Amino acid sequence: MKKNLFVPSKGEYVKGKRPTVDCILCSIVQNDPKAINLKIFRSESFIVAVNLYPYNPGHLMIFPNRHIEEIEKLSLSEVGELHKLTIISLKVLRNLYNPHGFNVGYNLGKGSGASIKHLHLHVVPRYENELSFIDVLSGSKIIVEEPKDTVQKLKREYKKYAEELLAQ
Ligand SMILES: [Zn+2]
Repeated sequence: MKKNLFVPSKGEYVKGKRPTVDCILCSIVQNDPKAINLKIFRSESFIVAVNLYPYNPGHLMIFPNRHIEEIEKLSLSEVGELHKLTIISLKVLRNLYNPHGFNVGYNLGKGSGASIKHLHLHVVPRYENELSFIDVLSGSKIIVEEPKDTVQKLKREYKKYAEELLAQ
């Protein structure tokens, strides 16, 4: 069986300059034309978007519409909504990418590697064979995916699950 390697695209998004806006996530919330729109779903209080600088294809961010920087600021109803969105994200990514696992979490504060202050939860699909040069050299298939192509695929799937789960 041929192994599939998933390599994040090094296309125009990655090479381009980061837009000059106060908060990149707020600008996505406000549909600012300066922000590249990688939004895939909007619930009452959150947006789910493809990460502009993905660690892997399908790397998602879930963030509140309002600008908050600490998890303590989330209300209990927001926490419930966020949890549902996390579950939907896992389902959708499993269906589309069939990863071997996930990293789900926050980078909080300066020492964590966080580059955006606006609170956001990362959902990162992980693969056992990812990013191994030996595999690349041995001729495994490399799949490159632009974030905007990821958006189209995910939007369709997300809508299906969200209607059923968010109604509960
Ligand atoms: Zn913000």
